[in-house]
Amino acid sequence: MALTPMMQQYMEVKESYKDCILFFRLGDFYEMFFEDAKIASRELELVLTGRDCGLKERAPMCGIPYHAANSYIGRLINKGYKIAICEQLEDPALAKGIVKRGIIKVVTPGTYTDSTFLEENKNNYIACLYIDTQTNISALCFADVSTGEFNCTDTPFNLSTILDEISKYSPSEILIQDSISIDLLNKMKDIFSGSFTKLDESYFAGETKNMLEDQFENFTGENYSNEIIKCCGSLLKYIRETQKNDLSHINKFSYYNIVDYLTIDGNSRRNLEITESLRENNKKGSLLWVIDKTNTSMGGRQLRRWLEQPLINKVKIEERLDSVEEISNNISYHEDLKEALKNIYDIERLVGKISSKSVNAKELNFLKNSIEKIPEVKSILSNFHTKLLKYMYENLDELKDIYVLLDKSILDNPAISLKEGNLIKKGYNSDIDELKEIKAHGKEWIASLENSEREVTKIKSLKIGYNKVFGYYIEVTKSNLNLVPEGRYIRKQTLTNAERYITPELKEMEDKILGAEEKLINLEYSVFIEVRDKIEIEVDRMQKSAKIISEVDCLSSLARVAIENNYCKPKITNSDNIIIEEGRHPVVEKMIDSGEFISNDINIDTGKNQLLLITGPNMAGKSTYMRQIALIVIMAQIGSFVPAKNASISVCDKIFTRIGASDDLASGKSTFMVEMWEVSNILKNATNKSLILLDEVGRGTSTYDGLSIAWSVIEYICKNSKLKCKTLFATHYHELTKLEGKIDGVKNYCVSVKEMEDNIVFLRKIIRGGADQSYGIEVAKLAGLPEEVLKRAGEILNSLESKKLKENKCAGSEIALDAEYSINEKKAHLKNEEMIKEKAPMLEPTRQLGFSDIEKTNLVKDITDIDILNMTPMDGFNKLYDIIRRAKSIR
Ligand code: ATP
Repeated sequence: MALTPMMQQYMEVKESYKDCILFFRLGDFYEMFFEDAKIASRELELVLTGRDCGLKERAPMCGIPYHAANSYIGRLINKGYKIAICEQLEDPALAKGIVKRGIIKVVTPGTYTDSTFLEENKNNYIACLYIDTQTNISALCFADVSTGEFNCTDTPFNLSTILDEISKYSPSEILIQDSISIDLLNKMKDIFSGSFTKLDESYFAGETKNMLEDQFENFTGENYSNEIIKCCGSLLKYIRETQKNDLSHINKFSYYNIVDYLTIDGNSRRNLEITESLRENNKKGSLLWVIDKTNTSMGGRQLRRWLEQPLINKVKIEERLDSVEEISNNISYHEDLKEALKNIYDIERLVGKISSKSVNAKELNFLKNSIEKIPEVKSILSNFHTKLLKYMYENLDELKDIYVLLDKSILDNPAISLKEGNLIKKGYNSDIDELKEIKAHGKEWIASLENSEREVTKIKSLKIGYNKVFGYYIEVTKSNLNLVPEGRYIRKQTLTNAERYITPELKEMEDKILGAEEKLINLEYSVFIEVRDKIEIEVDRMQKSAKIISEVDCLSSLARVAIENNYCKPKITNSDNIIIEEGRHPVVEKMIDSGEFISNDINIDTGKNQLLLITGPNMAGKSTYMRQIALIVIMAQIGSFVPAKNASISVCDKIFTRIGASDDLASGKSTFMVEMWEVSNILKNATNKSLILLDEVGRGTSTYDGLSIAWSVIEYICKNSKLKCKTLFATHYHELTKLEGKIDGVKNYCVSVKEMEDNIVFLRKIIRGGADQSYGIEVAKLAGLPEEVLKRAGEILNSLESKKLKENKCAGSEIALDAEYSINEKKAHLKNEEMIKEKAPMLEPTRQLGFSDIEKTNLVKDITDIDILNMTPMDGFNKLYDIIRRAKSIR
């Protein structure tokens, strides 16, 4: 048995798109067959049917109506699939034999541009990684097809640099060489949930330089490495092959150097919750959530990019800070700016649609309405004097010509479909006006012709009629034939008592009336395309204005946030210290009641205060403090004011964190292994301009092993001349506090608490000195550990402590490690402890948070989290029992 001709055609197309789900157009449906049909029916919950295909077994099949395809494509893309769209390339009614079909577009996660499915404030990047094993150089390229952004960089191959760079962009699709090592691929897969597309080595070997020169005016092959050319060329080729249309908006080749921006490794990005919260993986609870008050989607994306790439150039940072200051000092301009920006649509993505020829008339009106607001923005900018804002004012193109063209041509309320007419405004094209006139007034025109002919011929009974065979005709009764002027009419039909005539004018009008509708649709479409193409020539200008608007929006957002949250302008220095007075955590302060956050200072440098060793009970606020320092540095380096009374920030080149919460990344590896991998990465890559946060390093193994590792890491950071960088080190190994005085640069700090009977009160103040207790059992109580376990833990702790005391008395020393210390150092340690005791009582915050407060908060949260509709009665009863038990224990 052989396949039917249609199925043969299907198979031929499918052969070239094996890695895609093939949407095969049959009439009003896109049909999927065989394995594709099974996947689509499963993923899209479609009914799986079958179709005779010429073979013994029917081909599994499912389908979707063509007009609803977008939403199905969006759903498949979100699940990481690629879709090849195969269209009918000729009118089935006119086709001889099988209708010609071909692929018109391949939709992939990284090249997807449908704005209904893309997040407004987030770029959708596709990345390409190329590694040359001969030169050991790797190149990375990132593009956003929806906006036209195209960035690339190259660097000697270094796994963590590559992973960090990719995590900065967080692409939804990554192109890689077929030959990539399994190890590297797995490491990337550990971190990125996006899809990977393997390309044959020959794909990278093709002639890509010319292609890049064609695409980008500012690209000259000689200026870039071979690796860059292969990487960028291959990405461009892939985009061309999938989009199958013009890409004029991808026109600016941007090469950057990785070291020109603050490096924040992937783990740190997640741990510091810069753009996404750790728990929910969404914007709420992240730094971006706090500082993003942008009014346009373009501004939202730009601010995210700023946050993903903080600057390290002092001058550039200061330029942004000065502008933020100027806007925040001029509240009224600031409000005006907000009002003007609010009405600006996503020009970048609209331009992308214009260039990919998928824009509709309504969207062109969005563009027009946005352009209309640009002069307002420009006039507000004219009031500012700082360098950046002045530059923006001078370079903001108002795009007046484009506005005029759109205003003249496109109807105020046009149709969405381009194939239904109703697109072009009156007065723009005389043919369209005439056709519209004919369509609307065709009958009136005939009636008026009838009247005028009666007047000219003086034949009162002359009439204009219509039939299907002859169309419109002028009819004169036999008795009046003598009045018909010679040569005025052409005879068409003779009846018994009348003659029927036509005139060229009447026939022309007839054509117009009869074909007006169809012609109008076609003409409006082609005039629309003309307008669109005229605008497309100006893509570059529109992109430049869009960029300026997005940056103005970011600066204005930062100004608003600075005012609303009482931030201060940081002083940026190239010195070696970070001094923050009354610093706050920008996100935590928003999450708790206003005024409840306790501010803290820091003075850290690369000399005497190089490594701050922070001890203190669980839940005291160590992690919050460390993170707040990193976040303040990041904020300062994007040009934002910071949550503090005063801040002087020396520019950092890299921020590293090793914070417990990233343990869940350890797919396939133990927690300890991941911890060590991260620490090793930090020690290898940090420089003395870096900021390191280490939270409880060593806790993942036995006490002595962990303590030894933590100790030696501290020594390495402080003694290795290549490192010697600013470090915050939080630990529960209180023994480490003895390193102050022994290792240069180590300074003890702790988070103060106050003991009250069997309770403790967190004061949240960071003070000099070391702590000696973790209050772990009290915190375990908060977590709801069974009473029995807590009681037993208390007994064990008491017995361990008295045993240790006894041993110490016998051996005449504390633990073995203590042998390392001199008497003087012990004295220093004791002095620190005294300092805490002295200082703590003075540091009572306005409202103290006790354990019972926290228990109450937890209880309320647990009650509000109950999903009663999804509970069995038995679960509900158990939950209620638990709540009552916990409530009683709080009382
Ligand atoms: P652990 O040692 O158990 O990891 P920790 O000392 O690191 O605890 P954090 O996680 O930093 O403690 O803080 C616990 C909670 O205390 C935070 O979630 C926050 O709500 C609150 N908190 C921390 N610092 C402050 C502060 N300065 N002002 C007010 N509340 C704070």
